[in-house]
Amino acid sequence: MSDTIFGKIANAEVEADLVYEDEAVVAFRDLHPQAPVHILVIPRKPIPTLNDAEPDDAELLGRLLLAAAKIAEQEGIAEHGYRTVINCNAGGGQTVYHLHVHLIGGRALQWPPG
Ligand code: C5P
Repeated sequence: MSDTIFGKIANAEVEADLVYEDEAVVAFRDLHPQAPVHILVIPRKPIPTLNDAEPDDAELLGRLLLAAAKIAEQEGIAEHGYRTVINCNAGGGQTVYHLHVHLIGGRALQWPPG
């Protein structure tokens, strides 16, 4: 199951506005940004949802969050603050079934989210 649009971006079969990549993680700007900074951080490994992550994925999940924090620093939003979000399944607002962390910032964010 690597044929989602994000799987194709991870495999460089589809172009995206990449802001970070390493051997395990790719990050790119969301096509429909909800804030001045809206970046998606994905594993190269095609895990459909957070429900599908397994104990062996623990390091990879940590790498996604560490990459998000690094990118927040690069984008200049670390000190002010930002939000990381993982939507899971339709009820959680997930539309692309390749695990991704939203990194959102650059404006005041409300809580709770809708
Ligand atoms: O969490 P969810 O699955 O809803 O997030 C998918 C995100 O992927 C959306 O913010 C959408 O704008 C973005 N997207 C994108 N490029 C695509 C398809 C979706 O940036 N080709």
